[in-house]
Amino acid sequence: MTAQIVVVGSANVDVVVRVERRPGAGETVLGSDTVLASGGKGANAAVAAALLAAEVALLGAVGDDQNGELLRTAMGKAGVRMDLVRVTDRASGAAYITVTPDGENTIVVSPGANSDVTVRQVDSAADAIAAARVLLASLEVPIPAVERAVEIAAEAGVRPVLNLSPVAELSPQTLAALDPLVVNEHEAQWLLNGPLEPERLLGLGPKSVVVTLGGRGALVVEAGGSTEVASPQVRVVDTTGAGDSFVGALVTRLAEGADLVTAARYAVRVAAVSVTRPGTQRSYPTRGEVPDSEG
Ligand code: ADP
Repeated sequence: MTAQIVVVGSANVDVVVRVERRPGAGETVLGSDTVLASGGKGANAAVAAALLAAEVALLGAVGDDQNGELLRTAMGKAGVRMDLVRVTDRASGAAYITVTPDGENTIVVSPGANSDVTVRQVDSAADAIAAARVLLASLEVPIPAVERAVEIAAEAGVRPVLNLSPVAELSPQTLAALDPLVVNEHEAQWLLNGPLEPERLLGLGPKSVVVTLGGRGALVVEAGGSTEVASPQVRVVDTTGAGDSFVGALVTRLAEGADLVTAARYAVRVAAVSVTRPGTQRSYPTRGEVPDSEG
């Protein structure tokens, strides 16, 4: 069985505790009951795509522990194929999140098993990557593995899409293969070492770029020019994971043969639904909730 989309990326258990205020150094405060949720940028995007009816496989790693079991169960239930996920003897990746009443959070990420995604693992998944329509990568796993996956995809004529999050340096060859490179405004400014000038992003090498602009939507930058894609105006409840929902929806439509602007128009509608609900993966809509045309 082949997946239309292979996602190279992370899976983390989000460990969330609400606190009245954050402890200072050496201090202890009491928090709410712990809430555990399946998360991580790769897993989020894969779940977003699976809920939109894409055939999607995650290429990643989890630990042989309870958190790994939680991640595999949650992703499997959403419809993500897990046969390219390696089980390693490191602890599963985890994100320790504290949320204060003002809605602000602090996050400590322990990459754990995500650090075990290797070039060798990617090489052994080369046939699955080459049989896909789209490869999606994000950067919470080791960069050499990501760059190898992009290389395999590009050589096989599979469309490589990369979400530069968390922001990191990539080789010129990797950048040149991307179609599109997806960045938010901060990542775009980091890349440009200055203000957001869309055409300059293409100058860095990618075939196309999508800049996500929060509540304003997104900007699609192609050789022929830039297209603004406005977001529907919605009542925002929780924007956590909105970017991952956006890329999951984007690659779903690209894998179905949509052009980039059409895919981005769909992605802003999907991400807009996700911000109206609490949580990350559990805020993502199904295909039935977001029909293809605005109608
Ligand atoms: P990230 O979450 O990666 O920082 P953005 O903040 O740009 O990236 O959000 C990604 C996408 O999520 C946006 O392009 C948009 O489609 C959607 N989104 C984010 N915030 C809002 C909002 N307040 N209202 C509607 N859509 C939003």
